[in-house]
Order: sequence, then structure tokens, then C-alpha cells
Amino acid sequence: MQSKSSPKLRIAICGGGIGGLTLANALISPSVHIDVYEAASQFGEIGAGVGLSLQTLHVYEMMGPSAILQIAGMLW
Ligand SMILES: Cc1cc2nc3c(=O)[nH]c(=O)nc-3n(C[C@H](O)[C@H](O)[C@H](O)COP(=O)(O)OP(=O)(O)OC[C@H]3O[C@@H](n4cnc5c(N)ncnc54)[C@H](O)[C@@H]3O)c2cc1C
Repeated sequence: MQSKSSPKLRIAICGGGIGGLTLANALISPSVHIDVYEAASQFGEIGAGVGLSLQTLHVYEMMGPSAILQIAGMLW
């Protein structure tokens, strides 16, 4: 028997950097299926810290306070 619920929207995100993972988090919904594809076999560290611009902080604020706490270790 066929389900009456509409099928989930499937979204593919290429790149598991902070941009791709933030987008995946922002799109989480019961009606959406998200696949994140990452080309690198492992993550490495570059740089000295994570700098978040004011516009970036607005995006994380819209996602909820816990998103800021998870992503930003230090605000200045
Ligand atoms: C040397 C260096 C030092 C830096 N230092 C700092 C710092 O100290 N502080 C700071 O805030 N920022 C720093 N940055 C900038 C920061 O790294 C970027 O702003 C940030 O990583 C951008 O995030 P992103 O998700 O847009 O892209 P990325 O982090 O580049 O992520 C993109 C991902 O997509 C993957 N990908 C690419 N093509 C494909 C494909 N076809 N299929 C699947 N996956 C794919 C890549 O492997 C990568 O993991 C530095 C950058 C560099 C190069």
C-alpha cells in the first residue's frame, strides 16, 4: 500500500566544511533528507581560530543560541 505522506525532499550538499555543515544544520527538518558529501578522506587543522563576521553571527543567531555555543568557542 502506498503511503499518503509526501516524499521527503532530498538535498545533496557537496563539501563538509563549516559552510556545508552549517547549511545541513539549518536545513534539518522532518520533511527533508540531507546527504553531505566530503571529498577529503579526513579533516585536518589549518589556521589559528575561527573568525565569525557579524553577518555570520546573524545566521547562527537565527539557527538558535545552541548553534552559536557549538560553533564559536570564543566571542569577542
Ligand atoms: C591556510 C589557511 C588558513 C586559514 N586560517 C583561518 C583562520 O585562522 N581562521 C578562520 O576563521 N579562517 C581561516 N581560513 C579560512 C577558512 O578556512 C575558510 O573561510 C573556511 O574554511 C571556508 O569554509 P567553507 O565551508 O566555505 O569551505 P571549506 O572549508 O574549504 O570546505 C569545503 C569542503 O568541500 C570539500 N569539497 C570540495 N570539492 C568537493 C566535491 N566536489 N565533492 C565533495 N566535497 C568537496 C573540500 O574537501 C572541503 O572540505 C584559512 C584558510 C586557509 C587556506
